[in-house]
Amino acid sequence: MSDPTQFPGFETRSVHAGQRFDPTTGAVIPPVHFSTTYAQDGIGGLREGYEYGRSGNPTRTALETQLAALEGGAHGLSYASGLAAEDALLRAVLEPGDEVLLGNDVYGGTYRLIARVLGPWGVGVRVVDMRDLDAVEAALHARPARIVWVETPSNPLLHITDIAGLARLGHAAGALVVVDNTFATPALQQPLALGADVVVHSTTKYLGGHSDVVGGALVLNDDALFEQAKFLQFAAGAVSGPMDAWLTTRGIKTLALRMQRHSENAQAVAEFLDRHPKIARVHYPGLAGHPGHALAAQQMRSFGGIVSAELEDAASARRFAESTRLFQLAESLGGVESLMNYPDEMTHASVRGTELAVPEELVRLSVGIESVDDLITDLDRALAGL
Ligand SMILES: *Cc1c(COP(=O)(O)O)cnc(C)c1O
Repeated sequence: MSDPTQFPGFETRSVHAGQRFDPTTGAVIPPVHFSTTYAQDGIGGLREGYEYGRSGNPTRTALETQLAALEGGAHGLSYASGLAAEDALLRAVLEPGDEVLLGNDVYGGTYRLIARVLGPWGVGVRVVDMRDLDAVEAALHARPARIVWVETPSNPLLHITDIAGLARLGHAAGALVVVDNTFATPALQQPLALGADVVVHSTTKYLGGHSDVVGGALVLNDDALFEQAKFLQFAAGAVSGPMDAWLTTRGIKTLALRMQRHSENAQAVAEFLDRHPKIARVHYPGLAGHPGHALAAQQMRSFGGIVSAELEDAASARRFAESTRLFQLAESLGGVESLMNYPDEMTHASVRGTELAVPEELVRLSVGIESVDDLITDLDRALAGL
């Protein structure tokens, strides 16, 4: 094959981008490079630019190339976690006195990072419902923001924001538009093509896909911003280790297949819950009654693997969360196995009592790729016991 990365298909790029066979041995899977340092051909004579493991590592480069190819961006950077990627981006862009305009149901850790870590350094944060572009425009008009930051679909309420519309408004106000694409993944949604400036990922979730590696990433087009974020990756040091980078690369190769099955299973689970008398409300963009359904159908390839549901009261939600067997009660999401979460006391405990607090009647399901009949049987039995 000539250069497989030149093929346009998403699935082809997922498998091949950054994954050239080893030129010395022909090994089809590139080796994992554990070396922390690189021999120099004379002082300063670096081969391929590699010098020291924090500044660069070939396994990390392979992942970063793959990430950029998937999101259709010029540059990819991988970090030790999603929050490390966010931290590098925020510190690359913001100065004391700047503000971030944040979606009102972003990942709790993102809010915590800006409010509690960057806040004392003089960074402000305001939150707005990003589904309402008039409200966004009014907020940007009232006071400038350096960054507009959105998650769509959001966590845990699966709100859908119009990325192209938001990018137009943000750019008109001189802001950098950032999309956390962790829930959709590039298999289902490509924010850069819709006008966003930067895509953020917790690769811990669907990109890794097997609940066995923590990581984060940035993908962007702007060369100057890339240099700043790369400088922070090097100077602050929150890099992905070689084994983490390799595991993430391996997970990404099956991303498109997994997302297709996650979406099919989640659609069936959402429809089942929607019909169930003990469920008060289901949040899933694949349901025709979801307020963001039409927009999601337009900007996403399918609707993803996360379903949230409200029960009659908090006690029933807690009991439901504790009584499934196949859906395991655990934080996180995006692995091949199905997980159950009670956001108010688990993933979203850090935003209790803030503007980002979530309903106490809510459970969030990360629908895995198991046999869908088994998943529904498990939920049905748990609901029958309430
Ligand atoms: C998990 C998550 C993060 C944080 O990523 P870590 O890898 O846990 O640091 C950020 N955004 C979203 C949407 C997430 O789900």
